[in-house]
Amino acid sequence: MQLPREVIIGDGTLDEIGPLYERLGLSGPALVVTGPKTYHIAGREVCSRISDLGVEAKHVIVEKPTVEEVQRVEEKARELGACAIVGVGGGSKIDVAKLAASEFGIPMISIPTAASHDGISSPFASIKGLNRPYSVKAQTPLAVLVDMDIIVDSPARLMASGCGDVIAKFTAVKDWRLAHVKNNEYYGDYAASLALMSAKLMVRNARRIGSGSREGLRALMEALISCGVAMSIAGSSRPCSGSEHLFSHALDVIRPGGALHGEQCGVGTIMMAKLHGLNWRKIRAVLATVGAPVDAGGISATPEQVVEALVMAPSIRPGRYTILNEVRLDERKALELARSTGVLN
Ligand SMILES: [Zn+2]
Repeated sequence: MQLPREVIIGDGTLDEIGPLYERLGLSGPALVVTGPKTYHIAGREVCSRISDLGVEAKHVIVEKPTVEEVQRVEEKARELGACAIVGVGGGSKIDVAKLAASEFGIPMISIPTAASHDGISSPFASIKGLNRPYSVKAQTPLAVLVDMDIIVDSPARLMASGCGDVIAKFTAVKDWRLAHVKNNEYYGDYAASLALMSAKLMVRNARRIGSGSREGLRALMEALISCGVAMSIAGSSRPCSGSEHLFSHALDVIRPGGALHGEQCGVGTIMMAKLHGLNWRKIRAVLATVGAPVDAGGISATPEQVVEALVMAPSIRPGRYTILNEVRLDERKALELARSTGVLN
């Protein structure tokens, strides 16, 4: 079980990267992996704070979460003789930093600039070009540093997407439990409870999150970090990724880049919740409250694409037993499910 050694969340905490770097016992060069926008928001500041320690700090701008970018970052880390990689940005920058650090065999520090998905603190990374649409195991960040001053200024759409990724835990845990009962898979009560608790915390704070309040966003950020920790404890993405994620991954295969990960997972959760006999209306209402999409139009998918994704979902990751292995949706049943939950009308 690999867990982050330090998690800092607070207002104006970006300044703490220097002392944190020292506390973690890092004394060599740092490679800061960031995006074109997030460099100006936080990446530049992180570089200069680490330089203030008398340690060399260089940055590399990453555009997309691809295998090529991971290799490029790894190459930069080698050239620099980096002793740590600091990921500063949204989900994809963190993912590239995490996998490159893992491949190069050095620690990674995660500094998210938005509350958009649960990869902030998890040991997994979603990278394109690895011949599978779901995340791969990398390593758990050594530390997570969240500056709420930056998070409150991030786009509302990213925050709503983060809510979709958290609400997915209701169906993910149900699927995990089902796999345990029907398929004799390992099931960890503690990891499952932690993921569920995070989803409940988000639901309780839905109004505050929807209004963009600092307290609400902090609760969302804590929920996302706890989900990542749940995955570290479980040693797999099981507590956080079930049939609703398979639906999202299938959509990415059918129609890449159409909507954000958490947005698609949220819509998937509405439908999978119905299959599990959960209160899907409440899930839909919570997503609406935080401003996340609740139907096909909201995730820019055509009715045909939604149906195709539902039918394809179980084959995306055959080893992952979910409710879709029990229900076996054909086109007719898929259409019925999407219609009955308001995903299609
Ligand atoms: Zn996810």
